[in-house]
Amino acid sequence: MIISHTVKDLREVISSLKKINKTISFVPTMGALHQGHISLVNLANESSDISVVSIFVNPTQFNEKSDLEKYPRTVEEDCKLLQKNQCDIVFIPSVEEVYCCDISCQADYGILTGVLEGAKRLGHFDGVVTVVKRLFEIVEPDVAFFGEKDFQQLAILREMTRRYDFNIEIKGAPIIREESGLAMSSRNRLLSKRDEEIALNLSSTLQWCVDHRANYELSFLLEKAKEMLSSNELLKLEYLEIVDSETFESLKSFESGKEARILVAAYVGKVRLIDNMAI
Ligand code: AMP
Repeated sequence: MIISHTVKDLREVISSLKKINKTISFVPTMGALHQGHISLVNLANESSDISVVSIFVNPTQFNEKSDLEKYPRTVEEDCKLLQKNQCDIVFIPSVEEVYCCDISCQADYGILTGVLEGAKRLGHFDGVVTVVKRLFEIVEPDVAFFGEKDFQQLAILREMTRRYDFNIEIKGAPIIREESGLAMSSRNRLLSKRDEEIALNLSSTLQWCVDHRANYELSFLLEKAKEMLSSNELLKLEYLEIVDSETFESLKSFESGKEARILVAAYVGKVRLIDNMAI
């Protein structure tokens, strides 16, 4: 496994691989890797000759300095896990390498960037689009893999790829969960045992909504689910919404032929968690 820390190094490696017609899959991450990330690495390995994983905690997508500072960083462990899972190249650039020049872009994609995470975390998607665009330009992959865990991000990155006309296939992958149902997340490392139990309310409430979709009107379903989440005073709900999976328009009722998604964000203690399911 090659570990590269600079843009120049990585470009040299990539260009020599392209010369011999190797196809490249790319998995951008912020590290503190878990089986959710590894599921993407496995898909990358299956779909191309070479898998590239980046580990970069992107400062511009954090709204709060304290969140950035406490974000878990476990680069050595990450590299071991990647090596064990047949990753070919790991790119671990510094902030200066990535933000070498004026690369910042604004992502104003209407509803897609305006609702849910976009409304609660102002500027977050500008940071995400900026860094992924930059990484795409450096890695020049054929395919890039993203988790449905960040369902809105996946839709926005598809749109970004289209708008900037990148010749890169964007593939989404299902959410990997703990046996308990908790969606795997690097931020779960910041949860105490008690927090983790409270966090389980997120996936169980989403699942309850999925299971009762046919029994109730959409608005009643949401109302009940919000009540369930609000009954725990250690959980602070930011949003629970059902949207059209493609346009992200808020749905007032379930319509046949339209795929819907239920998404939630909440603080458990000081840790902000997100989850979603098809509904
Ligand atoms: P992150 O390191 O949190 O920026 O995530 C890197 C990639 O892994 C993103 O495409 C995420 O959506 C994806 N990812 C994170 N958690 C999971 C999970 N539990 N299951 C599947 N993909 C995930």
